[in-house]
Amino acid sequence: MSAAETAAAGVVDPELPFVTIAELGILRAVTERDGRVTVTITPTYTGCPAVSVIREDVRSALAGVGFPDAVVETRLNPPWSTEWITEAGRRKLAEAGVAPPGRRPLLTISVRCPRCGSPETEELSRFGSTACTSLWRCRACAEPFPRVKER
Ligand SMILES: [Zn+2]
Repeated sequence: MSAAETAAAGVVDPELPFVTIAELGILRAVTERDGRVTVTITPTYTGCPAVSVIREDVRSALAGVGFPDAVVETRLNPPWSTEWITEAGRRKLAEAGVAPPGRRPLLTISVRCPRCGSPETEELSRFGSTACTSLWRCRACAEPFPRVKER
């Protein structure tokens, strides 16, 4: 990876700061032409307020490795999919207590509790602490947990 790619890939998601935008599949491309870097991102969720933060974080990461005039472009097509989350990203989400989204096209019949692994869970609210997560509760251990919404 080039210095620009490494810098962009190391930016963490502002709402899920234990995973990088590369691990979440938000980072789509880093191109370098005549010393000017263009970074393409696809936000996880339409209207996710984190996008402007990600944009600024990517710009400052690139400025830190010698690209002060990097351009961050947002691509909405194709839309972000939970399929784009890497294996490392899924593992980190699980370790942080955020249930990783199921893989499409398999229908998610049960969401497992990230704490005790029980499939006896229920959605409490479509809206969690962030725009990208919903709030779930485990019936076995009674613990609430956030879950990344599927797209
Ligand atoms: Zn549980």
